[in-house]
Amino acid sequence: MKKTIITGDRPTGNLHLGHYFGSLQNRVKLQKDYDTFILIADVQALTDNFDKPDKVRKNVYELTLDYLSVGIDPQYSNIYIQSMIPETAELTIYFSNLVSISRLFRNPTTKNEAIQKENIFGKEYSNMTYGFLGYPVSQAADITILDGEVVPVGDDQLPHVEQTREIVRKFNSIYGDTFKEPEAVLSKTPRVKGLDGNDKMGKSLGNAIYLKDDLDTVTKKVMGAVTDPNKIKKDDPANPDVCMVYYYHKLLNNPNLDNICSECKLGTRGCVGCKKELIEELMKLLSPIQEKRKYYEEHPEEVEKILKDGTAAAKKRAEEVMKRVRKSMQLDYFE
Ligand code: ATP
Ligand code: MG
Repeated sequence: MKKTIITGDRPTGNLHLGHYFGSLQNRVKLQKDYDTFILIADVQALTDNFDKPDKVRKNVYELTLDYLSVGIDPQYSNIYIQSMIPETAELTIYFSNLVSISRLFRNPTTKNEAIQKENIFGKEYSNMTYGFLGYPVSQAADITILDGEVVPVGDDQLPHVEQTREIVRKFNSIYGDTFKEPEAVLSKTPRVKGLDGNDKMGKSLGNAIYLKDDLDTVTKKVMGAVTDPNKIKKDDPANPDVCMVYYYHKLLNNPNLDNICSECKLGTRGCVGCKKELIEELMKLLSPIQEKRKYYEEHPEEVEKILKDGTAAAKKRAEEVMKRVRKSMQLDYFE
């Protein structure tokens, strides 16, 4: 029996290098050895985009194209839409009795995200919604409703997986053994930094290189990337450790990395040339992804079928698990 992987993304924008190195590569590598379910988290996207349903709707399709273009293969992976699995909402309600409000407020990822979303929630989070505070609970339901065992994620998701494990332990101790405790799996780069030097490249942070960015867009972005602020003239020596261009050369495993580093330190490497080299390396990675994307853009009926089939497979499994949950909780009336 293969173990089950559950992982996913919010349809809040296209996928970027952070997703690629943080989790997509891992998913593609693991998909043949696991039962893989990839969740398009439209319900979770609405927690901070509740006033933008059109944005969420459009990005469900965009996300599917991104998945297929990096090599998520529907033969092995089920791509499915969160809101089409109403059993998750039912399980979320039962889970919400098992977690205190203070525990939810202590979740460091929720805190960080609330600070970033000051425009929505205000400085004191006084406008924070019930849905936003509680989304880690619904994420626990997402994982467990499909008997998820392995969860490949970026490191901002670790607190949520930990929360899931706590909920599972509490559920099992009260209602009897029903769920397995899932485990998070981190990639080698669990947090890719943004072009602006921010600790995290994020869809909602405006500091990302997207997998679908064309040469012009990549060029503009890389030319604007943060470099060592103390390097003023072309031949000033600089510190590669504070330079985002060097950081991405490293991320892409540029075979010329040692030279880049020493030339930068000696002042024999100008930033413009260094950026041009990075653009070339980036396009080597992105071009085949974009070619594959083009195929699926031209075959929307294939994409829709992939989504429909993936969602049907997830729904079937969720119905079975929910039956088990209702039995554990003595809610299996008329059976
Ligand atoms: P948003 O800003 O709207 O929250 P996001 O870029 O954080 O978008 P999500 O859909 O929230 O993307 O996250 C999907 C998955 O990608 C998660 O597992 C997350 O940890 C991972 N991820 C997102 N950004 C990065 C990053 N910069 N480095 C590594 N992993 C990342
Ligand atoms: Mg996020």
